Amino acid sequence: MHRARKRFGQNFLQDSGVIYSIVAAINPSENMHVIEIGPGLGALTRPLLSNLDRLDLLEIDRDLVAYWNQENLKGLNVIEGDALKFDFLEWAKVRPANSGLCKVVGNLPYNISSPLLFHLVSAAHMIDEQVFMLQAEVVERMVSKAGGSEFSRLSVMLQARYDMELVLEVPPEAFDPQPKVNSAVVRMIPRQDFNLSNAQWHALEKVVAAAFSQRRKMLRTNLSAFADRLALSDSELKARAQDISVERYIEWAKILAT
Ligand code: SAM
Repeated sequence: MHRARKRFGQNFLQDSGVIYSIVAAINPSENMHVIEIGPGLGALTRPLLSNLDRLDLLEIDRDLVAYWNQENLKGLNVIEGDALKFDFLEWAKVRPANSGLCKVVGNLPYNISSPLLFHLVSAAHMIDEQVFMLQAEVVERMVSKAGGSEFSRLSVMLQARYDMELVLEVPPEAFDPQPKVNSAVVRMIPRQDFNLSNAQWHALEKVVAAAFSQRRKMLRTNLSAFADRLALSDSELKARAQDISVERYIEWAKILAT
């Protein structure tokens, strides 16, 4: 029997109702092109595979990779690797000829969730949907709107790239071993209207990082390096980073990148 490894964030889902709801949210159908990050012992993998012709698995734990290879299930393609280094763009491009929607899913290891979400942004234009279980606190920040206390750098950057919705909240009792925190499932769909060039995206990263560098300070201070180019209004100069909408940050990024 596999012993859960803390360093790989291994908390295995046990609750069949929660598993059912996540699989329903992913909505697998035959020819979809799907990769599951961190299959663990297969709480999601098995029900997903029963609705798919083919499923790619990406797993870092060598023992679990060996377990899945041994299972040798039809349609399963096991990849041993680190999701933080994996080339999702290449994966999304190289797909069976008749494949349908392209989805990245998983009950993610919480210790790497933010860097992994940012790593996936570079493949967003080739991906139709992501459905992830994450720490509830992170999901709250992802979906929080301007003015909300959780609105942060993560909210702006991810909302600039994805439409996101909270699907389900999941208590620690749904797992074995139980995590110390609450969890939540989020759906992320790359925005149809996303039109930032690479230079504009980098400008967005810069201006958002500067705006949120000292949360309590006014933008007059945090954005002083950009003030002359952005022509901030009086009320914006007095505002704090968490009061500015995602769309306004995008406008600023476009100005800064020209
Ligand atoms: N999907 C299973 C479930 O719901 O029961 C397991 C989820 S567990 C929270 C996270 C999984 O991600 C584990 O299988 C772990 O070994 C794997 N993992 C951890 N870090 C990883 C990484 N950097 N790249 C790929 N997989 C990773």
